[in-house]
Amino acid sequence: MSQVELIDISKSYDKQKSVLDEINLSIEEGEFFVLVGPSGSGKSTLLRMIAGLEEITGGTLKVDKKTVNHLPPKDRNLSMVFQNYALYPHLSVEQNILFGLNAKKVDKKEQRRRLTETAKMMGLDKLLKRKPKELSGGQRQRVALARSVVSEAPLCLMDEPLSNLDAKLRAHMRVEIRRLQKRLGLTMVYVTHDQVEAMTMGDRIMVLNDGKIQQVGKPISLYNEPANLFVASFIGSPK
Ligand code: ADP
Ligand code: MG
Repeated sequence: MSQVELIDISKSYDKQKSVLDEINLSIEEGEFFVLVGPSGSGKSTLLRMIAGLEEITGGTLKVDKKTVNHLPPKDRNLSMVFQNYALYPHLSVEQNILFGLNAKKVDKKEQRRRLTETAKMMGLDKLLKRKPKELSGGQRQRVALARSVVSEAPLCLMDEPLSNLDAKLRAHMRVEIRRLQKRLGLTMVYVTHDQVEAMTMGDRIMVLNDGKIQQVGKPISLYNEPANLFVASFIGSPK
């Protein structure tokens, strides 16, 4: 079943020229879907529209078959992990993880249950009382992921979540995020500008350039049958 549907979605900021044009796309339940493209191609704008953080200027966005164009972010039953995953410096790991649940009025007992489960799954159980400054980069990133996981939302949006990490940790976290997504059965929309990340993580990939879809498909199809020169050179097909 398709969980997220974009129908003729377009976007322009302040009556300027459009930054996204006629985006038509259907993302399946439980799929790891990657949006890849160079900087400025419109990836974050698209993700933010799905999250409800950016106004949709044309077209229809459906989640679970319902039109959600005007639904506020908190009612969209999704979680989001940002590029600079800002944790609150004055709050402990535990408080950072639970922050969003307080806003959603999840009761304390349920919060404890989720915290225990999430912390264990993410290997954070020994770090719950620490402050962000007492953590390594990888541990901080894991807290950001935990904050998203603890929401138990079926749809997860990530915008370049690994871009602040060094190469080794990035490779490790790719595997960890994939494992987590599978285990929880999440539908993932994952933004990156990194081809390798896209090719190794995605069930399907959408290549975006200058606000237009270049190709959508499985990694192997993009590699073997690139739709145009842009995709071929971006993905690095042997041509
Ligand atoms: P990406 O995430 O792929 O780097 P963005 O979605 O951030 O791309 O940006 C796409 C285009 O929209 C760029 O040309 C960018 O300058 C423009 N843009 C992004 N945010 C705004 C904004 N708040 N106001 C005006 N233009 C914006
Ligand atoms: Mg971006």
